[in-house]
Amino acid sequence: MSTLLQGKTALILGVANRWSIAYAIAQAFHREGARIILTYQGERQRATVEELGAEVGAVRILNCDVTKDAEIAAMAEALQAENTSLDVVMHSIAFANREDLSRPFVETSREGFALAHDVSAFSLVAVARATAPLMVNGGAILTLTYLGAVRVVENYNVMGVAKAALESCVRYLAHDLGAAKIRVNAISAGPIKTTSARGIKDFSKVLEGVSAVAPLKRNTDPAEVADAAVFLGSDLGRGVTGNVIYVDAGFQIMALSAG
Ligand code: NAD
Repeated sequence: MSTLLQGKTALILGVANRWSIAYAIAQAFHREGARIILTYQGERQRATVEELGAEVGAVRILNCDVTKDAEIAAMAEALQAENTSLDVVMHSIAFANREDLSRPFVETSREGFALAHDVSAFSLVAVARATAPLMVNGGAILTLTYLGAVRVVENYNVMGVAKAALESCVRYLAHDLGAAKIRVNAISAGPIKTTSARGIKDFSKVLEGVSAVAPLKRNTDPAEVADAAVFLGSDLGRGVTGNVIYVDAGFQIMALSAG
């Protein structure tokens, strides 16, 4: 067992099932000696998250739907009441209506636009505001983003626009929270087959295309994203804030591929 996160407590939001990137991150944080706290989105997810939490020795499992201010506040209050201080907060949450991930972007509805931004971007601000006071020794806030924030990825649509907002939130939060020694960074992961990713039309074609073009000639393993989160969450990442780090087998550097 290595010890990069020994003595640190990490709150991880966004484990839905075994395929969630957040679960790979929970496993890596556990391997590195962190105390882990997980959240679940409503009763429907509770049993699965409790089961997965047991596998990574989670010390606490809390309910938190990030569209509800009261649930974010209750989560922070529960931790405060137990005198829990946090060192790492991992935000691994996004949502958009399925129809907005298949029809042309120009047809995005007002409601669909607002929903995607609320869950996928504003929630980072809300979670940071609620948890920063618990990071009494400073710490690291992390989130997950995707290339669709900065390039057009067919069918990613409103989620790309929400990820652009999320990446901008990372920079503004890094500026606000730097004085409290809290670093804020995003990891831009290559495409990975998860429940959320399956909602994107033609996702398997994206996986094929990426592995053909990426310099490493393969797709991204969630464990690689998790190890980058270990780096950013640990003291090794102490000089890095306000950044987006790509863990994508190098795909984002490519323009045209001759092959
Ligand atoms: P996932 O479906 O396993 O995880 C998404 C999580 O978001 C789930 O746990 C879900 O419960 C949570 N969520 C959605 N709405 C919520 C709400 N209102 N309140 C609380 N939680 C809510 O899929 P994933 O691929 O592991 O996604 C995790 C993150 O990684 C997302 O931000 C996603 O955009 C990002 N990401 C994924 C990929 C990919 O290809 N899978 C690539 C880059 C970035």
